[in-house]
Amino acid sequence: MNVAESERLSTGLDQLGYEKVKDADDADIVILNSCVVRQGAEDKVTSRLDSLKGHKRKNPDATIALMGCMVGPRTEALQERFPHVEFFMRPQEFRSILEFAAERQGLSCESDLALLVPEAPRVSTFVPIMQGCDEFCTFCIVPYRRGREKSRDLHELVHECENLVERGVLEVTLLGQIVDRYGTDLELPKDLADLLTEVDSIPGIERIRFLTSHPRDMSQKIIDAVASLDKVCENINIPFQSGNDQVLDRMRRPYNMANYLKLIDDIRSTVDGVSLSTDVIVGFCGETDQEFEDTLNILKEVEFDVVHTSVYSNRPGTIASRKMNDDVPLETKILRKQRVEEIQKAISLKRNQEYVGRSLEILVEREIRGKWEGRSRTNKLVHFEDRHTNWLGKMVDVDILDAGNWSLGGSLPGKDLIDSTARKEINVTNVSGIS
Ligand code: SF4
Repeated sequence: MNVAESERLSTGLDQLGYEKVKDADDADIVILNSCVVRQGAEDKVTSRLDSLKGHKRKNPDATIALMGCMVGPRTEALQERFPHVEFFMRPQEFRSILEFAAERQGLSCESDLALLVPEAPRVSTFVPIMQGCDEFCTFCIVPYRRGREKSRDLHELVHECENLVERGVLEVTLLGQIVDRYGTDLELPKDLADLLTEVDSIPGIERIRFLTSHPRDMSQKIIDAVASLDKVCENINIPFQSGNDQVLDRMRRPYNMANYLKLIDDIRSTVDGVSLSTDVIVGFCGETDQEFEDTLNILKEVEFDVVHTSVYSNRPGTIASRKMNDDVPLETKILRKQRVEEIQKAISLKRNQEYVGRSLEILVEREIRGKWEGRSRTNKLVHFEDRHTNWLGKMVDVDILDAGNWSLGGSLPGKDLIDSTARKEINVTNVSGIS
């Protein structure tokens, strides 16, 4: 969501005549988009903000702005802590910096923020279809920062996707904190399946993904849409967070593991070849060894393709922070995370090995150290080598010859396998939702 919002703000600044610079030291305006979903993320923002003090000293006319989830309804404490920052903007509320940037250029800022469609989007791009969350899971800060659920108009979204196609986009990922609840708040209620159907009919769109689902809200209608619509990819992220019903109660997650496992069965029996990913939190308040074992048992039973694991960290202001004890020692949390990762590594490898010997259609998203990198419909990261053709932004069939736990290696039909040791050097960005 932050990436999508940064792209939109960047588009607004481009339209006002601003240019990106590589180094913040050369910038007239520095804007930091923040995530505080976990302590580690917040620490990174804090450290970057501290390092920008020097920039402000050297360039007193430079403007520094902070946006995103670090900014809550009251900013006095942040202002006191970071006096070199001029603008504090809550998620989605970045009009003030656009107005300032326009005034600085002697222009006025007329842009409707919803219409700031990226001018030069990546071939695979994000489209926020709704904002906020009404759920208030006890560990989560998002509802306090992003506010209540608000869906965007379906026709506006279709129009935006058409614009993106004109600008070279082949794949869209529809984003919401609970994406399956799209449209329930609209005057004429719609749902995610309706939106998927409309976007599927746009000429030029090749692939559609959506993120992040909630076990309670993923309906059979949505699952059927994934199965029946040609362009909707067979890949679903469906967080379960903990494999133990008592922990789920404490987290205020409105399902139990029996419902969750039934949902997984429904998805797998409806959508051929679907790949599944999930999110797990370890070391939540009061999590015992046995409760944690239940999480491991779910991982072994379901055998997800990918698991995003977080160590629970106390987020001030959340229900857990106010009413529960963060009583699992940090060392135990870290050991639990390592156990999840060890078990999942073997499962992911096994799942990926199922692709060896098959041909996968890849949308190529970047070139890195002489290798092309793209993803399959099932969201498998694939690398291949070809020095003769520029594959960036193109769809290509790749023969899969080798599997690791994070990615697949292959070659164009008739070519040799890429060097799998070189592939280990490639950074993999782990994208995780938290619904
Ligand atoms: S974890 Fe997801 S569903 Fe729960 S409050 Fe946070 S954003 Fe909402």
